[in-house]
This record gives sequence, C-alpha cells and structure tokens, in this order.
Amino acid sequence: MNRSKWLLLLVLAGAVAAFFALGLHRYLTLEEVKARQAGLTEAFAQRPLMVAGLFFLAYVAVTALSLPGAAIMTLLAGAIFGLWWGTLVVSFASSVGATLAFLSSRFLLRDWVQSRFGARLGAINRGMARDGAFYLVTLRLVPVAPFFVVNLLMGLTPIRTGTFYLASQIGMLLGTIVYVNVGTQLARVDSLKGIVSPALLASFLVLAALPLIARAVVDAFARRKVYAPWRAQKPARFDRNLVVIGAGSAGLVSAYIAAAVKASVTLIERHKMGGDCLNTGCVPSKALIRSAKLLHQARHSSAYGIRSMRAEFDFAEVMQRVQRVIGAIEPHDSVERYTSLGVDCVTGEAKIVTPWAVEVTAPNGERRTITARNIVIAAGARPLVPPIPGLEDVGYLTSDTVWSLRELPRRVIVLGGGPIGCELAQCFARFGAEVTQVEMAPRLLVREDPEVSEIVTRAFADEGIRVLVEHKALRFERDGDTKVLVAEHAGQTVRLPFDAVLLALGRSPNTAGYGLETLGIPTTAARTVEVDGYLRTRYPNIFACGDVAGPYQFTHTAAHMAWYAAVNALFGRFKRFEVDWRVVPWCTFTDPEVARVGLNETDAKARGIAYEVTRYGIDDLDRAIADEAAHGFVKVLTVPGKDTVLGVTIVGEHAGDLIAEYVAAMKHGTGLNKVLGTIHIYPTLAEANKYVAGEWKRAHAPQGLLEWVRRYHRWQLG
Ligand SMILES: Cc1cc2nc3c(=O)[nH]c(=O)nc-3n(C[C@H](O)[C@H](O)[C@H](O)COP(=O)(O)OP(=O)(O)OC[C@H]3O[C@@H](n4cnc5c(N)ncnc54)[C@H](O)[C@@H]3O)c2cc1C
Repeated sequence: MNRSKWLLLLVLAGAVAAFFALGLHRYLTLEEVKARQAGLTEAFAQRPLMVAGLFFLAYVAVTALSLPGAAIMTLLAGAIFGLWWGTLVVSFASSVGATLAFLSSRFLLRDWVQSRFGARLGAINRGMARDGAFYLVTLRLVPVAPFFVVNLLMGLTPIRTGTFYLASQIGMLLGTIVYVNVGTQLARVDSLKGIVSPALLASFLVLAALPLIARAVVDAFARRKVYAPWRAQKPARFDRNLVVIGAGSAGLVSAYIAAAVKASVTLIERHKMGGDCLNTGCVPSKALIRSAKLLHQARHSSAYGIRSMRAEFDFAEVMQRVQRVIGAIEPHDSVERYTSLGVDCVTGEAKIVTPWAVEVTAPNGERRTITARNIVIAAGARPLVPPIPGLEDVGYLTSDTVWSLRELPRRVIVLGGGPIGCELAQCFARFGAEVTQVEMAPRLLVREDPEVSEIVTRAFADEGIRVLVEHKALRFERDGDTKVLVAEHAGQTVRLPFDAVLLALGRSPNTAGYGLETLGIPTTAARTVEVDGYLRTRYPNIFACGDVAGPYQFTHTAAHMAWYAAVNALFGRFKRFEVDWRVVPWCTFTDPEVARVGLNETDAKARGIAYEVTRYGIDDLDRAIADEAAHGFVKVLTVPGKDTVLGVTIVGEHAGDLIAEYVAAMKHGTGLNKVLGTIHIYPTLAEANKYVAGEWKRAHAPQGLLEWVRRYHRWQLG
C-alpha cells in the first residue's frame, strides 16, 4: 500500500474512532432525535439554509464513513424539513455519501482485490461492465445487503463512478420517500422495525425487476426491428432446423451435435470436408513435422549412441506421405460418415439470402434454396496476404498452397514469427533448406513469455535457421534471376535473396461473399463476425463459430464454440449457454513444443494480476534424460499463498500432451496439492507435472511447524 492510501486509511479510521470516542453515536438514536426534534424544527424555521446545509454535511459524513445512523437521520429529515424538502436533502446527501464511501473502497482496495482475484472475477467484471447499473438499482430498491456494504463492495468492481451515483440516487429514491414520510410523523414512531412492511417490500421487489423487464422488452423490440425488413420472406415452414455453412472443425461439430439431438441439419461445404485442419492446417503440418523430426534424429543419432545413420529421402515422397496421412484421416470427416450420422451433406457455395434461407450453388452451377429456422456460419479463415509491393511478381506460398510443393526450395524465407511460421520454418530447415525467418516484432512467438521465445530462437539458431526479428518487409524485387526481399531493420535496408517465400502472417476470417453484407451482419475490428457471448450475430437465429468468429484460431476452440452455437441455436428459447472461455489451452508444435493454458507472466503483469511462479527444469527429469530430451521447463503461475493454478507454460518434448493435466486441474478447480497427490507412472515425462507441484509444496512448507517437528524428533532420540 502506498503512502496516500495509508494516509486516507488513517484519516478514515481517525474519523470513525472520534465519532465513537466523542459519543456522537448516542445522538443518533430514536429517543434522542425525538427529544431534539422540537429544537431542531425551531432552528430550521429561523435559519433554514444553515440548518439544512449542516444536516446535509452530517448526513454525507455518516454515510461516507459507513457509520450507523443513516436511517435515523432520514426519519429526522422528515421531521424537520417535511416530505419534499426532506426527500431532496436526503436523496442527494445519501447518494453523495455513498459515492464517497464507494470511492474510498475503490482507492484503498480495488487494485488489491482485482490483482489477487482478478482471474476469477472475469465473469463478474464483465457482468458489472455490462449490467452494473441494473444490478445496483435492484440492490438499492431491495435492501438484501446493508446500504454501506453495497457501497464498499461496488467500489471493488469496474462499475463507473457516474453510473454508481446515478443508479444509487434512482434506486434509493423510493426507500428515501418512505422513510422521510414516516419521519414527518416522528412522534408516533416507536421503532425502526416495520417501517418497510412486507407488502411494501414486495412492491419494491416488482419495481426492482422493472429495469430487467424493461431491458428484455427493449431487446425484444430490437430483435423485431432487425427482422422487420425480412418479415414478408419468413417461411411458414422450414426445411431444416439448422443449416451449417462450412464443413471445417466448427461446421462438422455443429452438424454432428445437431444430428445427435435429432434435429434436421444440412451441412454445406464448397471445397473439401474437414476444412483447413484436415486439408491444409493441423494434419499436414503435424505429418510434416514428424517426418522432419525423424530426419533430425537420424542426423543426430550419435546422441543416442548410434555412431551414424544414413537417412535418404526425396522431398516429393515426404509430401506424398503428408497426403497419405490426410487420406487416412479423411474418412473421419467424410460425407459418408456424416450422412450416416444423419447430416444432410451438400456440396456447393452457400449464400445467406434471408435470415432463414441459404442459397446453394452446386459445382455444376445449379442453384437451390434451403430454408432453416437457424443458421450457423462456420466459414473459417484464409491466409493473410498483405499488399507488399512486388509480392505478386515474385510469387509466394501460403499454408494453403505449400502442400503442393514437391521440390524443396534451396533458400526459403518464412515471413512471420508466429506458430505456423515457426513450425514450418523448422520443418524446411530440417529437410535441408536454408531458412531465414523474418519477423517484425522483437521476438518469435510474441504471445509467449520472452524466455520461451529465447529457447525457441536458440533451438532454431542451433539448427541453422537465421532468425531476423525487428525486420519489416518493405518490398519484393527481382535482381536478374534472383528474388529478393527488401526489409528494414534499425533504419537500415537489408536485402535477402530467396527461392521461395512462405507467408505466415496470420489468418483473415472469411466474411465476404456469402450474405453478411446483404443482411448487414457486422464484423469486428479483428475482422471476425461480430457475435455475443452466446455466439449470436445481430440476428438471434444466425450464429457464428470457429475461425470466422474468433477470438482464437484453433481446431479445439472451433469445436468448443460449435457446441454452444448448435445448442443455443436449437434450444436457446429454453436455455442459452454463454461460451466458457476460462480455460483455453494451445500448443505450438516446434521442437521443443510450447504449450500453454491460462496466464503467463507477460499477461499477468499486463493485467495487474498477482501471482507466484514455480518452475521445474525438465533437464532434471529421468525420462527426459533417457530420451535425450532433457531440456525445457514447466512453469506454473499460482495465486499467491494458494495452490490454485492461474496458468501453465510447458516447453519441451510432448508439451502439448503434458499440459492436459493442468487443463483439467484449472477446469475443475483442483490445485497443485491434488497434482502432487496423484500417482504418476515412472519414468514418464508426465512426472514433470508432479515435480513442479512438489517444488511449490517445498516453497510453501510450514517452516514454524517443521521446527517443532524437528524438536520432537530430537526429543525422541532420548
Ligand atoms: C498450417 C496450419 C497449422 C495449424 N495447426 C493447428 C494445430 O496444430 N492445432 C490447432 O488447434 N489448430 C491448428 N490450425 C488452425 C486450425 O486449422 C483452424 O483453427 C481450424 O481449422 C478452424 O476451423 P473452422 O471450422 O473454423 O474453419 P475451416 O477449417 O477453415 O473451415 C471452414 C470451411 O468453410 C468452407 N466455406 C467457407 N465459405 C463457404 C461458403 N460460402 N459456402 C460453403 N462453404 C464455405 C471452407 O471451404 C472451409 O472448408 C492450423 C492452421 C494452419 C493453417
């Protein structure tokens, strides 16, 4: 706590102490105010402004310091000032006092609370940012929590001060009128109990629900308005419960779920079933990585005690194997399989023509329209191709086209230092290409902690990859037969000759050409389709999931979203589910692999979340040593003083598999003690998870207690 906070705390504590020490609390009892009522009324008649002003200040002080007596003062206001003036004075004084209490709590405690519990307060924070005013008005109308508790707790949330003030003043107005009115008959009041009768409380409850009801009505009107231009085109009967556009990971899972719950569903794909993941993404890249790794291990066979190994290969055969792997997995995503599951699979280009109709253009040009009560957009993303001058002239590869290569280019530039760029750069280098990886940011894998980027960069340098960070691609040129990338680094121009350039600069959601424009479905700044927490677009019967909606671009997040999109589409009128983003893991399949779930240090610092770090070096792990994989680490961030996991980063062999234990721990709220208490098979890489939990336990051993145990053992020696 800094000096100004200490100072404020001292002032507040001093004021509260003085209030009780001087016996001021004795003036704020029913008997006392009744006894003084006549005198005060007289004083008010003589000097109205002064008395009202002093009363106002006293009221503000009592509420700002959270002192007992606000209810008595409200009655007194009625007795001295009458109903209307009393209501006016109390309404403003109580709102000002409440806001001062709110601000004090915010100044003293909010940073601490948010940094300590911020990771788990995410949903509350989002709810408060969205609906804070509604909650507050309800709390003020229905006093389920004492006035001062509401002030102090609200200070810890992200609600805006102006919103707090206004919502408090509006929410407290009726209660204030009731109390002030009773105060006008002060002589007849014997106790504070019974001022708010159950009937009155019930009517307040109805009033409290009014803002929420009003909101629901406004939402319903907004929905009607969105559909208004299309109303005439709403079919009386629908062909399908659900139409899904795109048969990638998101579309396949949406259709699968719909069919599983016996809905009639059509899945429309214009290109290949399985989308990016199967055809140009996860599957081919992982197949290529495996072949590259085998070659790398063969080249380094001496590390395994095998003096030399000859590995002959033809790049074309390696790429054919990649296609064979795709072919082996293809049946999982095939039309045959999905048809057998009950999905109507249609090949063609889909276009949403009304909120309930999708037009499909088959490869032979034939058109048909399918009507559906709900539509799921799962149109995916495509490689980002920035308008760098000269790019079209030199030609380029992307993650869409690289799989058709059959000859290994000699000099490869990989533009982009993200996961896809890193995975493919390492593959090309392992097959023998001279690889230069060019990244504009100061390091590779910028989303991970700097030490992770360092390890990957070092591994890349050891394998002969030239990593150029802080290099900005300016243009491409031809120098005779040679293609050249001209980049800028530290104010200097750098010329990089190459034979092939692979663009790995991110992926753009597919948002054009299939009806979003016609229906006016907006996109976000990140160019994804704009959806709410339930994955609904502007039209509540049109949903979007997977890469096209973001925020993540992974197969497992596409599948995760697809469940919500399908279930909310089919059953949303009964119950809707908000996408749970609390625990999202991912992995970059470089060697070493980099896997993460939850927070890393960079994120925790940026968000001001307090954490402790526990590390375990995999160089110490028996199985890793036996496997010549003794490198990397497991790094766990926990809530200070607790075993609750905030996030984990694992760098090393099979990191993507190892992290699953922590994904489960975070998802189900089990901490490091439970990981430590679980038997792990010896010798496995998974033991690293247990050892890091052991490190945490050692660092949190109760030293005081252990000292007594030591004394006990010494005493036992006799
Ligand atoms: C090289 C690479 C490696 C990757 N590695 C991994 C990895 O290891 N792990 C991981 O989790 N993720 C990985 N990804 C990301 C992963 O592939 C995507 O996140 C995932 O495929 C997204 O699925 P989706 O269903 O949203 O989109 P997509 O798979 O792109 O599917 C969208 C489908 O919609 C179709 N479509 C679009 N518009 C229309 C239309 N108008 N009519 C009909 N059909 C249409 C498209 O043809 C496409 O088949 C990788 C990606 C790449 C490029």
